[in-house]
Amino acid sequence: MFSPEVVVIGGGIAGLGVAWELAERGRRVTVLEREQVGRGASWAAAGMLAPSAELGFEELDLYALGRESLARWPAFARRLEAASGRDVGYRDAGTLVVADDRDSLHALRRLFRFQEEQGAPVEWLSGDEAVDLEPLLSPRLPGAVYSPEDHQVDHRAVVEALALAARSAGAALCEGAPVVRVEPDAEAPRIRLGDGSEVVARVVVLAAGVGSSALGGLAPAPPVRGVKGQALALRLDPERGLDLRHVVRGPDAYLVPKADGRLVVGATSEDGVTDPRVTAGGVYRLLEGAVEVVPGVEEMELVETWVGHRPASRDHAPLLGRGRQPGVVYATGHYRHGVLLAPVTAEEVATEVDRLIDGVGETAPVLAPFSPRRF
Ligand SMILES: Cc1cc2nc3c(=O)[nH]c(=O)nc-3n(C[C@H](O)[C@H](O)[C@H](O)COP(=O)(O)OP(=O)(O)OC[C@H]3O[C@@H](n4cnc5c(N)ncnc54)[C@H](O)[C@@H]3O)c2cc1C
Repeated sequence: MFSPEVVVIGGGIAGLGVAWELAERGRRVTVLEREQVGRGASWAAAGMLAPSAELGFEELDLYALGRESLARWPAFARRLEAASGRDVGYRDAGTLVVADDRDSLHALRRLFRFQEEQGAPVEWLSGDEAVDLEPLLSPRLPGAVYSPEDHQVDHRAVVEALALAARSAGAALCEGAPVVRVEPDAEAPRIRLGDGSEVVARVVVLAAGVGSSALGGLAPAPPVRGVKGQALALRLDPERGLDLRHVVRGPDAYLVPKADGRLVVGATSEDGVTDPRVTAGGVYRLLEGAVEVVPGVEEMELVETWVGHRPASRDHAPLLGRGRQPGVVYATGHYRHGVLLAPVTAEEVATEVDRLIDGVGETAPVLAPFSPRRF
């Protein structure tokens, strides 16, 4: 049996971020990952950092957390690039949310009014103004909202960089190490692995994404379920005029141009569906939604399709901070926002772990609305 100071269960963007942060602060950290690090939902994402474009009418705490995390992203990306030697593809061109008919225009106007009330930095554009900004948009679009502060990163580069940076800061990343049970304890929580071996730590960080609810020993089980998302990538072709600069969100699909020349088109939202297959219907609906707003999509090469499962809690907000069980800190349930929330998760959850080990203080105010104890 070995005894690291902190065990992180799950090596996605949440777990790797917390592990890197703690290792940089001098903690002895081990990540236990059942498969391969960085290949879960974090690999399947689109990399949008979009609190304003995705603002939901009843999600004001989440919006505030998203804006806080977005504000931390530029410094987080610079620090991560310096620590890993990897470019993480941070792009700040902004996001265009477009309508494609009268109904979606009406819905977009309501969203825009609500965004303005909340102080979101958004601008209303006519269809022509939107085409001036992004010439590949359909000339038939009746209107758009421009969110200049909604940015994006190359999320796959981010998880690879986090793994490199965590290792070089001294964290141990163990792959093929499924955790089956956690036995909470204020001083020495135990973690049982699938092969029957055990690890004792000072603190356990639960960052297992959709795997969180299946772990034994946690009562109540974290209320995290999977929401299936199918997505695909096309090849941009600037020489033939097939290029996009901004993230474009239509009513039925979003399009995210990546620094490596791919255009990510996503995503379906299939609640509780565990089937890992890409379906013809999923790809059909995504391409139909994409062509509606950017007709040039028809000419692009299709290069990849995939499925991911977003870890969603009952209220769709993440579980961050101390749970009811002693010695366990949560970093899970990030649903549609795990990439956006990576900096705030890494930094604030690491601080929470420090506080628990050092026996000081209560939860930071920024995490308070997201306490796992609300369930
Ligand atoms: C199609 C799609 C598009 C998305 N687009 C965006 C976007 O544009 N912007 C954004 O912010 N978010 C987006 N998301 C959401 C984002 O991907 C997730 O919120 C985020 O990746 C969750 O990170 P995680 O580390 O919690 O989960 P994961 O990346 O899934 O990592 C969890 C890890 O835990 C491991 N694990 C599970 N159980 C165990 C166990 N028992 N023992 C050991 N290891 C275990 C898994 O193997 C996995 O590697 C998208 C998601 C999808 C599916």
